[in-house]
Amino acid sequence: AARYATVDVDKLVTWPAGAPVPYGHLTATFEAIAGTTKRLEIIAALTGCFRAILARSPSDLLPAVYLCSNRVGPPHEGLELGVGDAILIRALAENTGRKEAALKKEYEEAGDLGAVAAASRSAQRLLFKPKPLTLAAVFAGFREIATAAGAKSQERKRGLIGKLLVSSQGEEPGYIIRSLQGKLRIGLAEQSLLAALAHAASLHKEGAGGGTLALAERLAAAEAAVKQVYSECPSFDRLVPALVDHPLGELEGRVTFTPGVPVKPMLAKATNGVAEVLEKFSGCEFTCEYKYDGERCQIHVQQGGKVVALYSRNAEDQTPKFPDVVSRLPGWLAEGVDSVVIDGEVVAYDPATKTIKPFQILSTRARKDVELSDIKVSVAVFAFDCLYLNGRSLLHAPLSERRAALYGAVKAKEGEVGFATAKTSRDVEELAAFLNEAVAASTEGLIVKTMHDVYQPSRRSNHWLKLKKDYLDGCGDTFDVVPIGAYYGKGKRSGVYGAYLLAVYDPDSEGYQTISKLGTGFSEEQLGALAEALRPHALAGPRPYYQFGEGQAPDVWLDPVAVWEVKAADLSVSPVHQAARGLVEPGKGISIRFPRLLRVREDKSPEDATTAAQVADMYRAQAVVAAQRGPAGDGD
Ligand code: ATP
Repeated sequence: AARYATVDVDKLVTWPAGAPVPYGHLTATFEAIAGTTKRLEIIAALTGCFRAILARSPSDLLPAVYLCSNRVGPPHEGLELGVGDAILIRALAENTGRKEAALKKEYEEAGDLGAVAAASRSAQRLLFKPKPLTLAAVFAGFREIATAAGAKSQERKRGLIGKLLVSSQGEEPGYIIRSLQGKLRIGLAEQSLLAALAHAASLHKEGAGGGTLALAERLAAAEAAVKQVYSECPSFDRLVPALVDHPLGELEGRVTFTPGVPVKPMLAKATNGVAEVLEKFSGCEFTCEYKYDGERCQIHVQQGGKVVALYSRNAEDQTPKFPDVVSRLPGWLAEGVDSVVIDGEVVAYDPATKTIKPFQILSTRARKDVELSDIKVSVAVFAFDCLYLNGRSLLHAPLSERRAALYGAVKAKEGEVGFATAKTSRDVEELAAFLNEAVAASTEGLIVKTMHDVYQPSRRSNHWLKLKKDYLDGCGDTFDVVPIGAYYGKGKRSGVYGAYLLAVYDPDSEGYQTISKLGTGFSEEQLGALAEALRPHALAGPRPYYQFGEGQAPDVWLDPVAVWEVKAADLSVSPVHQAARGLVEPGKGISIRFPRLLRVREDKSPEDATTAAQVADMYRAQAVVAAQRGPAGDGD
C-alpha cells in the first residue's frame, strides 16, 4: 500500500489520453515481471500498468488482461493459441529476411524462439520506423489466429503473424512469438493477475489517500471481492467491464454464477482413516458419498434441456464428447426445471450388467466430435451437487439445500443418471462397513462432506474429505506431479528420455519444487510417447521459478506443461528435493520413494498439481498411520 501511495500514474503513461494503448506499454511491464520472482513486486508492476490504462483508455483493459493471461477468451470457450513452431519460424523467415534453417538452429541453441525473434527483428535495417503496435490490435490478431480454421488456415495464420511482426520492435516480437506459442511464461499466476486488477480498480476509483493502513485494508477488500467474484464467474469478459464501468461495491451483485460459465469444481482433502474424519467433523452434521472413479463433470442446462453443455474439472467444454448425455438429458429433468447446473462424475458403465467400469475404460472414449452411432463405451452420470436452479445460484446455499434441490430437479434413470450413493452415520463400524461397500461397488472409497457448508469453487476444502481404501492400506494417496526435467536414455532407450525430474506446485511462491526422479516402470511405447509429447517443451535452462537441489540439474529442462499421476511407496524428508521445503523440517524438503506412473492427467493443468502444503499434510498423515499401526510388522 505504501508503494502505491507514492506512485505518480501520469509517469506510467506513454500515450495521449483516449488513444489506443501501445503494446509496448504491456511488454515493458512483462519485462519487469520476468525480472523478479517476488510476488509483491509482480503485482505492483502490473497494478501500475493497469492503473495507467484505466486512467487513459479503459476500454483497452479487457484485451490487456487477456494478453497477460495469455488467452484469447474465457477457458470454457476453448480457444487456444499454441501455434506450432514450424508456422512461427516460417513467418519469422518471411518477415525478417532470414533463412528458416538459421532460425531453427538458433532456436535449438537458445531454447527460446522469442529471443531469436527479437534479435532477428532488431538486426533488420528498416527504411521506415513502423507505426507502434497497439495492444488492441495484437489481441484482435491473436484472436483471429486462434479462430482461423479450415482450408488455407495455415496461410491465413502466417499472414496475420507476419502483420504483427512487421510492426513490432524492441522486445515486442519476442512476446508476440511466446504468446503465440502459448507459453508467455513470465511467472505471472492468475491469482497475482486478479490481485493487480483489484488494486488498480480500487486505486483508480477510490484514490490512494486516507492513510497507509486504511489503504491497505481497502486494497485487501477489493482483492478478496475480485477473487471471489472471479471464482464464481471465471470470465474476464464479464468481470473486467463490470470493474471498469461500476463501483467496486456493486461487483458482487453484477458478476454472478450463471449457466454457460463453468466454475472450477470444489475439491476434497485427503484423510488417513475413519477416525480422522470423525475427529475433524466432530460436532457437525456430515454425509458420506461413494467416490466414483471417472471424470468430474459439470452439466449446465438451460431452456428445459434444449441447451446443454458439459465441462471438465478444468472448464474445458466436453459437450462434443458426450452427445449421448446431451440427447438423454431432457428426460432426466423433473417437471418445472428450466435451468440447472449439476455437479457429478461421469463414469464408464455397463448397462447389461449394471456395473461401473474402471476409469481406464472411460479414457478409451474418443475426445471430440463423437457421433452417437460410434459410441462404444456407455457412460452414466452420478450426480452429487446442484449449483444452480431455475435462475438462482445455489453456491452460497448449504449442501443440505443443494442436495434437496438436486433430488428435486433430477429424476434418476437406471443406466443413465443416478445420485451418488450416500449414508449419514457417526458410527465408526458403520462408516467402515460403508467404505467397504463403496469399494465393492467399484468405486475408490468415500467423500465425506459437511451438510451446512457452502460450495467453494476451486477450493480444496476442509469441508470435503476423501477416504480412499488405499490410504487405509498405508500406501497413501497418489501425487499429481509435473515433469520439469528429463535425462537422456542409455542403451536401448537412447533417442528418448529415460528418466524424468518431477515437481509439485507451490502456490505461495508460484514455483515448482522437485519431489523425485522417475526412471522405472515405463513400457518402451510409453517412453516414446512421453518423449514425443515433451520434446517440444525443452528449455535452454531452468525457469527462474523452479526450485531444485544442488546437483539435481537434469540433461534437459522442460517447461511445466504436463501433469502425471504417480503412486509412491512413501514420503521421506530429503536434503535434496525441495517439495514442501521448510514445512516439515527447517531447510529440508520432502521426497517420494519409488514413484510409478499411473496415468497422464489430461484434465489437469500444471497449477492443479499436488501442492507443497498437500505434500506436507501427506507426510504428517503417513506418520499418524505408522503410529496407529505400531512397530513394523505389527500392523495387521
Ligand atoms: P482432486 O480432484 O482432489 O484434485 P483427483 O482428481 O486426483 O484429485 P481424487 O483425489 O481421486 O481425484 O478425488 C477427487 C475427485 O473425486 C473429484 O474431483 C471428483 O471428480 C471425484 N468424485 C467422485 N465421486 C465424488 C463425490 N461423491 N463427491 C465429490 N467428488 C467426487
